[in-house]
Amino acid sequence: MSKQPLFERMALIGVGLIGSSIAHGARKHGLVKHIAATARSEATRTIVADQGIVDSVYETGPEAVAGADLIIICTPVGAFEAVAKEIGPHIAPGAIVTDVGSVKQAVIKAVAPHLADGVHLVPGHPVAGTENSGPESGFAELFEDRWCILTPPEGTDATATTKLQDFWQALGSRVEIMTPRHHDLVLAITSHVPHLIAYNIVGTAADLETVTESEVIKFSAGGFRDFTRIAASDPTMWRDVFLNNKEAVLEMLGRFNEDLSALQRAIRWDDGDALFKLFSHTREIRREIIDAGQETEAPDFGRPHGSETED
Ligand code: NAP
Repeated sequence: MSKQPLFERMALIGVGLIGSSIAHGARKHGLVKHIAATARSEATRTIVADQGIVDSVYETGPEAVAGADLIIICTPVGAFEAVAKEIGPHIAPGAIVTDVGSVKQAVIKAVAPHLADGVHLVPGHPVAGTENSGPESGFAELFEDRWCILTPPEGTDATATTKLQDFWQALGSRVEIMTPRHHDLVLAITSHVPHLIAYNIVGTAADLETVTESEVIKFSAGGFRDFTRIAASDPTMWRDVFLNNKEAVLEMLGRFNEDLSALQRAIRWDDGDALFKLFSHTREIRREIIDAGQETEAPDFGRPHGSETED
């Protein structure tokens, strides 16, 4: 438990996987005195209220942000501009506005113009998630030992950035500060392109006429099912990520395609040395990820063996 709450009143705009996890974590660690929230649908607002995930639930953004000193936008990125336009005029001077969006340059462009002078915009991205969505999928430990990247635009108040850094660290995250542009490039290769590859390979397999769908499912343990977990991620969220990080994703896809062509050539010309060299190098990268505590050593992604049960 932290000794003193960092904020008086936190307002969550959108309470899905990430928003509800922040609420649970903030409660667990005593980080805020009051959690207010709003969500687009009546259904979500009812779940959030009935399950007591937050202290007060409002129908509209302006009601939720009134008097808040920390506002976190937790909707899909495509909704940020409309949300900022709606809540901007109702935010108290001195408040910190942040978000959890998976892209950062587009988010600053969408939100900053709607905030008054004296309101501190410190965009953020917790690099933590699951393939599940909705207010019931959140849990307090989601951010523990995961990175949270903050991308304060030039000229951002340093005290606001430090306070938000303290908040994420209290939720268990490790915090890194980088420019929005650098964030978008790094995430394009570590997260966005891998998701696109997963969506694509699952789509390709589903379209194959020579292999029946039941065979794809039956023999999925051959590697395919690990892609299906990623390809089950929320369609709205990921549509918005690709539309809002176009430049970096296309740049990384260009590099990816070149490397894929080199692999194709190596297979065609029986260049086993080239294949072996690359596969050995990629194995080392996985080892480094395990050593850095970002993955466990458990075989087969920790699945219980002798059973096909997923987590
Ligand atoms: P989620 O579980 O689907 O929840 C999204 C929330 O936003 C829900 O409360 C939803 O309201 C609301 N919402 C959806 N569309 C909206 C719109 N057009 N206008 C207003 N509200 C809208 O999503 P999530 O996984 O928490 O993701 C939220 C954000 O976190 C995204 O920006 C995403 O890029 C980022 N993020 C996600 C992950 C991940 O792994 N999931 C990881 C890091 C960052 P209703 O429930 O009422 O529909």
